[in-house]
Amino acid sequence: MCFCLALYFVLLFLSCASAHPYGGLRSPRHNLDLFLHIRAAIPSPDVNLVGVVIVRIIVCLVVAVSRHLEYCPPKQTVYLPVLIADTPTHQKCTSLADKDYTKLINLRRYYLGNVPYGEAIFGCHTTGQIALTFDDGPYEYTTELLDILKAGKAKATFFITGSNLAKGPIDDESLPWANIIRRMYREGHQIAAHSWTHPDLQSLSEIDRRNEMYRLELALSNILGFVPAYMRPPYSSCDGSCLATMKALGYHVIYFDLDTDDYNHVLPDQIYDSVAIATQFIEAANPRTESILSIAHDIHPLTVSNLTVAMLKVIKDNGFETATVGECLGDGSSHWYRKV
Ligand SMILES: [Zn+2]
Repeated sequence: MCFCLALYFVLLFLSCASAHPYGGLRSPRHNLDLFLHIRAAIPSPDVNLVGVVIVRIIVCLVVAVSRHLEYCPPKQTVYLPVLIADTPTHQKCTSLADKDYTKLINLRRYYLGNVPYGEAIFGCHTTGQIALTFDDGPYEYTTELLDILKAGKAKATFFITGSNLAKGPIDDESLPWANIIRRMYREGHQIAAHSWTHPDLQSLSEIDRRNEMYRLELALSNILGFVPAYMRPPYSSCDGSCLATMKALGYHVIYFDLDTDDYNHVLPDQIYDSVAIATQFIEAANPRTESILSIAHDIHPLTVSNLTVAMLKVIKDNGFETATVGECLGDGSSHWYRKV
């Protein structure tokens, strides 16, 4: 009897205590409780205990082995078991990912300034300014867009997507994206977040949603050394639990009040519908009393070569000036990013 008890505890401890720290069977304390319950329920423990012990040991060993196969260090386990698309070097718990994600998970995300965190923001405040924003890039046409903005002395905000449209990860230095993002920043544009793979964040679990943001943050910190405090949810979809996630991660959640609808007008005989939408909106606004927050997408060539060029002219003709979202919200530039 005593030998069985001793054997039971020794083997349980060896098999379970070294396994994953979360979950029922893997806690030595839980095993003790469970054992005492089993023990109390057996009328003749000397006879049945051996069988109970053997079954428990087998179960526990199986659990321990299976858990060990997916083991991550405890701090990362909460957020890292998800596989993120086309980023093989960061799947599961590679040592690189463990180390790098830790700095983002542990990042102190202070709330600075007067712009609310974790609340949907649909417009900005600084009169006479229009915040041009571009989503889903960088992409093939973003360099041309930067040239156009530079020639027009215009500022914009880029809501960056990390790995969409089969473009590869933005922090792969063999691809053009990292240099384009550095150029955006160098030329005075604001860098903001738009998730890693462009999912509907609202439909994701907390773990998957955080992974989408952490993976983008990891890439941007690799490229720039900091992460943004501004984000826009893909598909304009982020309520309740999603907003709570963004608040916890210290994000301003930015929507728009001028939807150019450019993604529905990608063909040459369509783009002028978007030009008309933007023109009418800007002409109807008073630069002395109003500001504008627009949305377009730099993944469409005509958005760059036609719509943006047309908008810059209308903006100028109607007495507005371009600004970043942070400027248009009256937020100091030191609040736009968090140093990693
Ligand atoms: Zn998007």
